[in-house]
Amino acid sequence: MESPLTGLKGIGPALARKLEKLGLFCVEDLLFLLPLRYEDRTQLVKIGALVAGSRCLVTGEVLLSETVYRGRRNLLVRISDDSGQLTLRFFHFSRQQQAQFHAGTAVTCFGEVRRGSAGFEMIHPEYRILRENQDAATTDSLTPIYPATEGVQQGRLRNLTDQALRLMQESPPVELLPASVTTKLGMPSLAAAIEYLHRPPPDANVQQLLHGRHPCQQRLAFEELLAHYLSLRRLRALAQTEDAPALTGGDSEVGRFIGDLPFELTGAQKRVIDEILTDLSEPHPMMRLIQGDVGSGKTVVAAIACLKAIACGVQAAIMAPTEILAEQHWRNFSAWFRPLGIEPAWLSGSQRAAARRESLQSIADGSAKLIVGTHALFQEGVEFDGLGLVIIDEQHRFGVHQRMALRDKGVSEEGHPHQLVMTATPIPRTLAMAAYADLDTSVIDELPPGRQAVSTIAVPDSRRGEIVERVRSACASGQQAYWVCPLIEESEVLDYQAAEASYQMLTEALPNLHVGLVHGRMRPAEKERGMQAFKEGLIQLLVATTVIEVGVDVPNASLMIVENAERMGLSQLHQLRGRVGRGAQQSHCVLLYKPPLGRIAKERLAILRNTNDGFVVAQRDLELRGPGELLGTRQTGLPDYRIANLVRDAELMPQVQITAEAMRTSSDTSAAAIIRRWLGDTRKYGKV
Ligand code: ADP
Ligand code: MG
Repeated sequence: MESPLTGLKGIGPALARKLEKLGLFCVEDLLFLLPLRYEDRTQLVKIGALVAGSRCLVTGEVLLSETVYRGRRNLLVRISDDSGQLTLRFFHFSRQQQAQFHAGTAVTCFGEVRRGSAGFEMIHPEYRILRENQDAATTDSLTPIYPATEGVQQGRLRNLTDQALRLMQESPPVELLPASVTTKLGMPSLAAAIEYLHRPPPDANVQQLLHGRHPCQQRLAFEELLAHYLSLRRLRALAQTEDAPALTGGDSEVGRFIGDLPFELTGAQKRVIDEILTDLSEPHPMMRLIQGDVGSGKTVVAAIACLKAIACGVQAAIMAPTEILAEQHWRNFSAWFRPLGIEPAWLSGSQRAAARRESLQSIADGSAKLIVGTHALFQEGVEFDGLGLVIIDEQHRFGVHQRMALRDKGVSEEGHPHQLVMTATPIPRTLAMAAYADLDTSVIDELPPGRQAVSTIAVPDSRRGEIVERVRSACASGQQAYWVCPLIEESEVLDYQAAEASYQMLTEALPNLHVGLVHGRMRPAEKERGMQAFKEGLIQLLVATTVIEVGVDVPNASLMIVENAERMGLSQLHQLRGRVGRGAQQSHCVLLYKPPLGRIAKERLAILRNTNDGFVVAQRDLELRGPGELLGTRQTGLPDYRIANLVRDAELMPQVQITAEAMRTSSDTSAAAIIRRWLGDTRKYGKV
């Protein structure tokens, strides 16, 4: 099975190079090149029963064909069976093709069903003209479709996998899962599963296969999830062998700080602080993820970790994803730490050169003990003097690579810094297990006492007038409000124009209110001035783009209006809503939408109306939009799985975890082989 691909018939050096691009080096690799999906040509579908988005085989009789001009020439062929009509649309066609489709001709075609201007259509379907008495050729089994690579056709891949499957009969791939697991979970053997998925038999359960739910798919998905999990756990184990400063002192400073807080820490905060302080006292780098819903009080937990580090004589740095949030931290931390004689240093991308030089100097000579900033903290030219703790706040999109890069940035004689990551968005448990298995996780699952759930309503924007009135009366009674405009197609310019337009409308409609505007194109200092005025109550209504999405904390604000809510993700809306409900008064969130709403959009808004629990919101967001939206596939380096799907196969994760822990102690060589089989030598996770 480890034999080279060039041993197979039809593979020369040129094709071998193309296959290498797909990560295929030996015969076993071909077996693990699993079909991406299947096409169902096993049965004819009645035209009347077609569903948009599906790929189907149909036959019908041509009613008429015509060429029309829609910017360019289109050939439209209308066919019907006894249940309905379907249009075939071609943009490229020859005279002969055109002539084939005369009325009364029987034709069979396969393609994706779309909603067209006059009912369903297929664009450039595969088709065949049927002669008298000829049947549409249905196939006996599902047709596997392999991941494409340039210049390698499906037919070729089918031929190669045929050969590999024949070779597999003689030397099947090694079973790497412990027999106890495969028996317990009633899994088919590896070879049987591979054979089945490449060539599903005629009696295969088509629906199960199409939905990835077949036991053979689950068998392989399990092994793949296990491979990724094992590799992340290895990374973690590796980190455990590295040195970090053991931070053991500082108890009295920490105790005094907690005693001086204007509030009592919640039980969850205390528990998580204990977990962090224990980690910090170890001579190996902490790698901990803190999950907590918006408003659960993560900042003060971060501050206590910083204080511990500083009291033990090392530097602590906290990084926030936006300037606004970093500034807010700088203010909070200054207020907390100045009385203790600790002056935080500030570092951001937009800083003037002189101020930056001064900051860099104090960071490098160690006079700055606490450093607050944006990503600028980890850019070139920043030298630390014994960085012992790195905190990344409100980051919901960070990957293994970024985590590693940050750790490496702070390496000094004492070793790696401890690392704490705080999420902006709760991640469902099973997803966190899969994506963050290299981290230890703490959950702050309790809100400070006295918080009231934010009541949320969804309103069509035709009723905007009423909502403006509502803002007026809330502000008249001493409350403050946000009016948030969405990001438009990732365009800062349009973004800013939308916010500007709303700002104009609101200043005109509410002449007696102080209305402010904050958007992403403003200079940081301007933004900060706007935020500060809002915080001090000089501004009653703050019109903003989603720059205020994470972290912003103004307890007196109790009304949040979000425009075009139907365009935003659930977790993002939950974050925005989390800007209110931070004080004692009842808070409200109004989601303005442009009708008509699609089914999913309706469902999403309903979820927000029905729950204030960020973990529930995240779970539903995951189900509706997939993990890429929550974790940001590209940024996170979250791998493209070959067969597993983090949403569909989430229920496998607990067993994956149990199996991995058992294997790491008892069969480390199998563990290594599983990682190699699924992740290859590409070392997706860096130094595996
Ligand atoms: P998040 O977890 O969203 O970052 P913050 O750290 O911004 O939340 O905290 C939200 C607000 O709750 C802040 O005003 C903070 O001072 C306050 N807070 C934090 N912990 C407590 C507590 N135990 N009791 C009362 N208020 C708290
Ligand atoms: Mg926060």
